[in-house]
Amino acid sequence: MSMSQVGEILDSMDYGPAPEAAALAEAWLSQHDRKFGHYIGGNWVAGDSHFATVSPSTGKDLAQISQGSAANVDAAVQAARVGLQAWRKLGPGGRSRVLYALARQIQKHSRLFAVLESMDNGKPIRETRDIDIPLVARHFYHHAGWARMLPTEFPEYEAVGVCGQIIPWNFPLLMLSWKIAPALAAGNTVILKPAEFTSLSALLFAQICDQVGVPAGVVNILTGDGETGKAIVAHPGIDKIAFTGSTEVGRILRRVTAGTGKKLSLELGGKSPFVVFEDADLDSAVEGLVDAIWFNQGQVCCAGSRLLVQASVAEKLYQKLRLRMDKLRVGNPLDKAVDLGAIVDATQLERITELVGVGVKEGAKIYQPKCKFPEGGWFYPPTLLTEVEPSSTVAQIEIFGPVLVAMTFRTPEEAVALANNTVYGLASSVWTQNLDIAHDIAAKIKAGTVWVNCTNQFDANAGFGGYRESGFGRESGREGMFEYLRWQAPIAKSGTLNEVKAKAGAASLDRTHKLFIGGKQVRPDSGYSLELAVTEGGFAEVPRGNRKDIRNAVESASSASPSWAGSTGYLRSQILYYLAENMEAGRTALEAALIARGASKPAAKAEVNESIDAALLYAAWADKIEGTVHQVPMRALTYTRPETIGVMGLVCADEAPLLGFVAACAALICAGNAVVAVPSRHNPLPAFELMRIIEASDVPAGVWNIVTGQLDELIPDLAGHQGVDGLWCFAGADVCQQVEEVSVSNLKQTWTLGGKCLDWPRATPAEVIRRATQVKNVWVPYGS
Ligand code: NAD
Ligand code: MG
Repeated sequence: MSMSQVGEILDSMDYGPAPEAAALAEAWLSQHDRKFGHYIGGNWVAGDSHFATVSPSTGKDLAQISQGSAANVDAAVQAARVGLQAWRKLGPGGRSRVLYALARQIQKHSRLFAVLESMDNGKPIRETRDIDIPLVARHFYHHAGWARMLPTEFPEYEAVGVCGQIIPWNFPLLMLSWKIAPALAAGNTVILKPAEFTSLSALLFAQICDQVGVPAGVVNILTGDGETGKAIVAHPGIDKIAFTGSTEVGRILRRVTAGTGKKLSLELGGKSPFVVFEDADLDSAVEGLVDAIWFNQGQVCCAGSRLLVQASVAEKLYQKLRLRMDKLRVGNPLDKAVDLGAIVDATQLERITELVGVGVKEGAKIYQPKCKFPEGGWFYPPTLLTEVEPSSTVAQIEIFGPVLVAMTFRTPEEAVALANNTVYGLASSVWTQNLDIAHDIAAKIKAGTVWVNCTNQFDANAGFGGYRESGFGRESGREGMFEYLRWQAPIAKSGTLNEVKAKAGAASLDRTHKLFIGGKQVRPDSGYSLELAVTEGGFAEVPRGNRKDIRNAVESASSASPSWAGSTGYLRSQILYYLAENMEAGRTALEAALIARGASKPAAKAEVNESIDAALLYAAWADKIEGTVHQVPMRALTYTRPETIGVMGLVCADEAPLLGFVAACAALICAGNAVVAVPSRHNPLPAFELMRIIEASDVPAGVWNIVTGQLDELIPDLAGHQGVDGLWCFAGADVCQQVEEVSVSNLKQTWTLGGKCLDWPRATPAEVIRRATQVKNVWVPYGS
């Protein structure tokens, strides 16, 4: 640097260029002649056709990448099947060592990974070097631990099998680690497809797998675009699909995998609120905003993209923010002093530009600092949109770029309403010095993660994932391990259903059965009944519920839900104990209802006993559903709250008509959910007896609703209802498929056992409780 340059820098107080050397990354690309195949079964397989991966900051091609074909996918699935044997054989200790070796290798080559990632994706080297790659290493170390602890910590679970994993371009290697590390730790093998814009770090990872001796077929890396992704999802030899990307593609995957028995986890989009109260430390909040929306050019699924600020400090915060924006440096991602790099692709840049245009047209005020961009690449300046209407396009749609939209609120209630005014629920940030407000708002925001006075914190030991249309399933920590394990529920003994034939000439049972909605017995809207032959002879008449009844039941459940979810576990346990007590008093009628449809006397007695026990069991659980405090590598209290899901639909199996019904409803209710339940079609009679017992047991109106009828008339409305947050279905495989297909409307989480494992009520309740709740992670840093 010459003296005059130094003088210039001192004059402007600006940074000089500090480029990171790309020589080693370039050499690595040259070693491969800038052309890559797929990594399948421990071999490099050349692709049939290729496409270029581009450096977003220069617009120049970096290398040729293979487009994975259906035949490549098939070969990878076969390799992964074979790999499963070798991987099982290694055992927990052996698998743990392999994961450990991967972590070590990533650390040893960390700079190469960081540079390559920055070149391929366009994100600043400062981020890949200090955040992405260290988190990747941490993820593999952490999961090396779970691999070793698997037999003792997950005794009732087994590996799912072959996992197809599809990831986006925003954190290429980090998302790879979030997918591969837990899958391998749980004993699975994987086929991972990186996003078409950013395949290089995954290919370098494949090379490292080869070096450390990961058995052939355990890790397969298949490159290509959405077509390759489709072929992976459609392949019948794959047992689980894990996806991170757009909500749009997530919906497609839910539909395509419905009824196939493939396990599915979806980590989708977001429009996460960043809530600033008037007593917040505004300077910290400004730095928080820089990390929330300008980290990785805002191409972050959990980006704090909606600033909600208390009106009294809004102007002050905007002013500070604009000053800070003027200081942000946009430029060559390999420059160590750059804050924002390039946008991943021209199409993304277009989309951002277009959406900001729409925002301005709809009345937003725009602020962008003056930036000078390098030639040839795709850049967009940090952007602030103020005076945005909550219903406007830019307040609702995920922009996935460096664009912050700001709105104001007056009261904490208004803040919560605005924060939850979205179909998404991935993450959120709350800024305040007031403990009451912090914890109160953290509990009320519907999102999988809440960061208090911080943002974009991730750790391998703290779960991450969405509420609502941000997807389902969790990644990281113990929570994330479940996504790669299958619960080994006991399989039902066959032959539990007895055919009951009506005797000719016998009189109908003179009882009027009704539906149970909003705490009252009501006649079905249709005015029709179904006839069920009973053992005494003749028929029992069962109300034939329809869509209107389902809608009424969901409405009742929705209005009962907030206060039931907000009630104490203690209260819920009291009510369930009382229910069990009243079941005991009403056992004669319950037994008779079972016998009426073919159960023997001893079997009926046994089932009533088990059902009372199930009510007692979940009464016991109601005040013991607890979270954990995670150990994360920072001074923070990071805790999980297993929260109520909300309104739950339930479709019972035909078998064990009383036990299956009581166990599921009690489990859902003990966790604070309101239920719309469809009892056994083979024998709904015990449910009618139960209505009378529920009425006498202080269950608040609307918490427990019961609709009987034909599944083809009930399922579309129950599974498709926007007001139903989740659904358990224990009916046959075809019904489960329909439930999974229809539930795509609001991406509700479903639990189906594909018509198997009907003895689940007799298994240990940990998995049942896990399914009745959803986990929120709250980060509260402390100290200075
Ligand atoms: P995308 O969902 O289209 O792509 C994600 C991955 O899915 C890629 O690997 C892609 O090849 C693959 N894919 C695409 N179509 C597929 C299909 N039909 N079947 C199987 N796999 C398929 O996302 P994108 O095009 O990269 O980005 C579009 C928008 O998605 C962004 O603007 C942003 O809103 C959102 N996004 C979210 C995240 C996140 O982390 N949640 C990440 C990237 C993008
Ligand atoms: Mg690229």
